[in-house]
Amino acid sequence: MMMISGLRYNAYSEYLRQRYGEKVYKLPVSLPVTCPNRDGQCGHDGCVFCGEIGAGYENLPAWLTVSDQLSANKAHIAPKYKAKKFIPYFQNFSNTYLPVEQLKRHVIEACQEDIVAIALATRPDCISDRYLAMLAEVREKYGIDISIELGLQTVNYHTLAKINRGHTLAEFIDAAQRIKCWPIEVCAHLILNLPWDDMTDAIESAKIVSALRVDQVKLHALYIVKNTVMADWYQNGAITLISKEEYVTRVVAFLEHLHPDIVIQRLIGRAPAANTLFTNWQTGWWKIRDAIEEQLLTQDTWQGKKCLYLNGPAVRNMELGTI
Ligand code: SF4
Repeated sequence: MMMISGLRYNAYSEYLRQRYGEKVYKLPVSLPVTCPNRDGQCGHDGCVFCGEIGAGYENLPAWLTVSDQLSANKAHIAPKYKAKKFIPYFQNFSNTYLPVEQLKRHVIEACQEDIVAIALATRPDCISDRYLAMLAEVREKYGIDISIELGLQTVNYHTLAKINRGHTLAEFIDAAQRIKCWPIEVCAHLILNLPWDDMTDAIESAKIVSALRVDQVKLHALYIVKNTVMADWYQNGAITLISKEEYVTRVVAFLEHLHPDIVIQRLIGRAPAANTLFTNWQTGWWKIRDAIEEQLLTQDTWQGKKCLYLNGPAVRNMELGTI
């Protein structure tokens, strides 16, 4: 089954085009934040794969104001792509790990004329009703959409302990359900090839985020960032990674089980090779995306084809007489 975009999954670029009438560009913004898994509140060492600069390789320094960062990034992107609409992306570390009034000032500073939405990446344990009420108030006052990207990585809570996440699956479920009570979108960030996970975990990840009705998902393959615990494990052979072909197969199975309405922000991430020991099997991210699209086609499958497990499948099948 094809989506409007001609793809077999619900692509974010098409979602943005439909919602805002044209192509929309994300602008990375750094806030002066850290992470409760680094400052000692729930841990000192962070997740085993997390580099010292967090996830934001393309970010400007956090001592620049939000306005200055947006201006600098717009000056670079707008003429190059003739871009007119933007989404500030507060990406690095845990962007809601600030006092609520301070966060509010940063978010309001980003509410500029050509901004259509704001995306905040954070951890599930950095979301509360008080923060959501503030964000909903800003959304209402400035007419700008707000989405929260929650790092989950995997639904396998044994793996979450191994990667030293400092939270379990329960905190993610709680945060996702709370966000859904407000006019704010929720995106789940997942890594489908963590060394201890298998196909069952990938499929269960799709089923849980579908059952929670998250709005978007963002998939990554694991990077091995230099000078991390994961890098030590990788170098001394304590972990091995699945092949590129297995990753493609896992993503296809994930998509088959994912609710068809969920928007896919990414099928594979990107990281500069200079900072990593391993990135995407040393293959261009677009080649892996193309391989996933090719496998969807050759298997004649699509996002949601196997999303048959919600809303009482046993009684549904009984009443339809299919058992
Ligand atoms: S939660 Fe994010 S910022 Fe914090 S240690 Fe883990 S990966 Fe790094």
